[in-house]
Amino acid sequence: MVDFDYARPRTLAEALALLAANPEARALAGGQTLIPTLKQRLARPALLVDLQAIAELRGIEVGDGFVSVGAMTRHAETASHAGLSAAIPALAFLAGGIAHPQVRHVGTMGGSISNNDPAADYPGALLGLGAQVQTTSRSIAADDFFTGLFSTALEPGELVVRVRFPRPVRAGYCKIANPASGYVTTGCFIADFGGGRVRVAVNGAGPCVFRLPALEAALGADFSPAALAGFRQDPKGLNADLHASAAYRAQLVAVAVRRALSMALSASPLLESSPA
Ligand SMILES: Cc1cc2nc3c(=O)[nH]c(=O)nc-3n(C[C@H](O)[C@H](O)[C@H](O)COP(=O)(O)OP(=O)(O)OC[C@H]3O[C@@H](n4cnc5c(N)ncnc54)[C@H](O)[C@@H]3O)c2cc1C
Repeated sequence: MVDFDYARPRTLAEALALLAANPEARALAGGQTLIPTLKQRLARPALLVDLQAIAELRGIEVGDGFVSVGAMTRHAETASHAGLSAAIPALAFLAGGIAHPQVRHVGTMGGSISNNDPAADYPGALLGLGAQVQTTSRSIAADDFFTGLFSTALEPGELVVRVRFPRPVRAGYCKIANPASGYVTTGCFIADFGGGRVRVAVNGAGPCVFRLPALEAALGADFSPAALAGFRQDPKGLNADLHASAAYRAQLVAVAVRRALSMALSASPLLESSPA
């Protein structure tokens, strides 16, 4: 690791001032991505601004028709919060499937979505639920937040404060994990808001999470497995690596869609572990 300075501000205003005064500064959340990146010398910040002590960035609020999660809320808290689990079980289920307990007890929602790893879980939930990302300067719709491979709409020095999820009537998430790393090879989040309003987001398969508008319309007309008849994912533009070709990922999208719908239609979440 290269040398860097370290600061632990207690307020958002202090953190913003530090970031604004140091163009080479980086925010530090759980450090589950940033610290390994520093160790590999892929990032060389002059200053790390640790967000751990900022109370404004923590906590889960469950209100009428929405759930709001602070950026520094850890995956384990999202997975085990009783109110959130009752309001949006698929979101708690997703958080509980991220990595392993050690990572879940330090990794944060804000860090995960700001990093926008194509193989991350939360982007599927944010796009699938049509969440709003509240930053230190504005509110950004999930549709506009994730802009590409490891990139987001965040400006330098802008921090995620909270994520506000509208509460669906029902929702399901299927993660087909890479058996070696546990990261998403292909995932799908489906949310039904009633009145024919359905959102379908696919994560892991492409460079950035994306929606399936034709399937959303079909499920909006008939929220049942029959609406999936004839669905086929075009492999063009999907990720291809040593773990899965684009053609295989396209097949997995259809599997993930079917399983996510099955979970949404059932009372209790299904645990998925293999792409059978
Ligand atoms: C072994 C292992 C397995 C994993 N498996 C999975 C998995 O299965 N699924 C999955 O989704 N993830 C997985 N992860 C990633 C994990 O979910 C982390 O939460 C994620 O890497 C980043 O979160 P963090 O809080 O650690 O952020 P950090 O590493 O601290 O920060 C990541 C980036 O976000 C920026 N940042 C942090 N907070 C904010 C903020 N509030 N506003 C703006 N920018 C911010 C930082 O400056 C940095 O650039 C895994 C990680 C490990 C180490």
